[in-house]
Amino acid sequence: MIPPAFDYHAPHTVAEAIALLSSLGDDAKLLAGGHSLLPMMKLRFAQPGALIDINRIPELRGISEQGGVIRIGAMTSENELIASPLLQAKLPLLVEAALLIADPQVRNRGTIGGDIAHGDPGNDHPAISMALDATFVLQGPQGERQVKAVDFFHGTYMTALAEDEILTAILIAPLAAGTGYAYQKLKRKTGDWATAGAAVVLRMAGGVVSHVSIGLTNVASTALRASEAEAALMGKPLTDASIDAAVHAVRAACDPAEDLRGDVEYKTAMAGEMTRRAIRAAAARCA
Ligand SMILES: Cc1cc2nc3c(=O)[nH]c(=O)nc-3n(C[C@H](O)[C@H](O)[C@H](O)COP(=O)(O)OP(=O)(O)OC[C@H]3O[C@@H](n4cnc5c(N)ncnc54)[C@H](O)[C@@H]3O)c2cc1C
Repeated sequence: MIPPAFDYHAPHTVAEAIALLSSLGDDAKLLAGGHSLLPMMKLRFAQPGALIDINRIPELRGISEQGGVIRIGAMTSENELIASPLLQAKLPLLVEAALLIADPQVRNRGTIGGDIAHGDPGNDHPAISMALDATFVLQGPQGERQVKAVDFFHGTYMTALAEDEILTAILIAPLAAGTGYAYQKLKRKTGDWATAGAAVVLRMAGGVVSHVSIGLTNVASTALRASEAEAALMGKPLTDASIDAAVHAVRAACDPAEDLRGDVEYKTAMAGEMTRRAIRAAAARCA
């Protein structure tokens, strides 16, 4: 299918892009990798009168470490995440998770910023960002502000982004030495979105859990941070009983929509199972 006609703009700076967003209003959409937006336009779920292509803005690219924080430009593609020696060494969860997203063609164009800004609970970066306690940098006409991943997702396709704002970067602290991590994603076939997914970041000290964060994919109207499940593990040794309690809490937090990937009961059960596997896999990596 061919999308409806639209005007096309290709700014070279974030400031130009924001000026275009401000002047064109809600008739305009940013175009990043296009792997979510263009299918929606072809299906007439989105009919923007103008596209603002942000692919030619150098400020939105690059992965660097500054002051103990890793900064990932919003226009960084999945394949660039996977190939980054910095992320392989300091944020390997992000590399592993990106490898589970779609297929090589989609990963070549699809960007981390687009994956997050789209606000689709089926996308993987929202839950990964929650587990990694990421901060998103948003820039608009009034300047820059920072929003925690856990506060960013307001509903399906709804986020904290104002109409005239751009997600410019994702900030994440490197994993401390000895931190275990895992992303478990159940999918029907290669290239599919998650039926349910769980991201876990875990540290142990003196035989008990000293840090745990859990993000859940595609089991509610937004990605979820499973705080009750984290509370069930914190300060305790990792035993079958404590993991069962966390799984129970995850199931209680789930509110998935029934679709071709499964009914509510199945998806809820699978969210629990992905969490159980991710906790065990993360624990096996704790030093
Ligand atoms: C076959 C297929 C399978 C897929 N499987 C998965 C999967 O398993 N897991 C997964 O996570 N994703 C999956 N995706 C989605 C893919 O990762 C998309 O690339 C991603 O959702 C959007 O990124 P994009 O760069 O293509 O953004 P675009 O499609 O260009 O934009 C998406 C939306 O975000 C807005 N936007 C983009 N960038 C910014 C920004 N910097 N600031 C503010 N707003 C912005 C756009 O205006 C648009 O509304 C799949 C896609 C396809 C086609």
